[in-house]
Amino acid sequence: MKPILSFTSREEQIKLRIPAGMPLGKIRTVLGDIHPSSLGLTLPHEHVMCDFIGAKSVDRSRYDRREVVRTMLPYLLETRQLGVTGFVDCTPAFIGRDPIALAELSRLRASTF
Ligand SMILES: [Zn+2]
Repeated sequence: MKPILSFTSREEQIKLRIPAGMPLGKIRTVLGDIHPSSLGLTLPHEHVMCDFIGAKSVDRSRYDRREVVRTMLPYLLETRQLGVTGFVDCTPAFIGRDPIALAELSRLRASTF
């Protein structure tokens, strides 16, 4: 897997010695792909929800997705007010990653401002 580079300007690209014309790549989000320059200030390693019961027992029936969204949205809105525009949830599937909850939180977070 290629590393994701995030830079916002040709000046930064020159500073990093990235040849002109080299594709800048994309960032895959729960709401679709975006250009790296639109990511902005980012929290790079977060977990909206984790279930440490054990990989064999992790199951979406163990929690209420609506409750996760209701509980976590105020925290995500607060980060937005502080200028954070990017949020990377690093939760692996074996401890409960829920892309549907993450997408709902992303939509609500974006539509609140
Ligand atoms: Zn972590």
